Amino acid sequence: MWIHLPAVKQKQGEALQYRFQGKIKDHFDSSAGDESTFDLELSIRGGDEEIMIKGRLQVEIEADCSRCLQPFRQQLDLKFDELFSVTAPGDKKSTPESLALETANQLTVSGDYLYLDEYIRQLFVLGQVYNPLCKPDCRGLCPGCGVDLNETTCSCEDESRIDLRWQKLKELRPDK
Ligand SMILES: [Zn+2]
Ligand SMILES: [Zn+2]
Repeated sequence: MWIHLPAVKQKQGEALQYRFQGKIKDHFDSSAGDESTFDLELSIRGGDEEIMIKGRLQVEIEADCSRCLQPFRQQLDLKFDELFSVTAPGDKKSTPESLALETANQLTVSGDYLYLDEYIRQLFVLGQVYNPLCKPDCRGLCPGCGVDLNETTCSCEDESRIDLRWQKLKELRPDK
């Protein structure tokens, strides 16, 4: 994914819209499944010295719920607003990969192209949720017998729900 900067500069401050859609595995994470997709919308404006990028990255990935362990489709909706400085093209020969890294790490742009893959990949990585839930009130698995409490109940449920710490507190309170 790249932006041709002369096209942006030519607009003289007017925003250009871009949209990229695809699979996560093709751009950001080769281990992602086929059903993990992204939709990236960008609004880009700028001149000779600065490029402003406003964007929205919507991601749908295959994830496993951290409570009930069931696979589900997790949605991420990340918005960002970034200012890139434009520097004069360097002497060294740049490859798309080295420019992508430069772009992501220093928010600088040199040459005619702004390569976005690395920058977006970092957004994606930082935006990921480490304990995803299939739904906010997922009841998880029974710690006693392991059944999925979203689907069924079990006889050990009542016992496992009594928290020993609360029992101790009850004993300590003189008015009860
Ligand atoms: Zn769950
Ligand atoms: Zn149980």
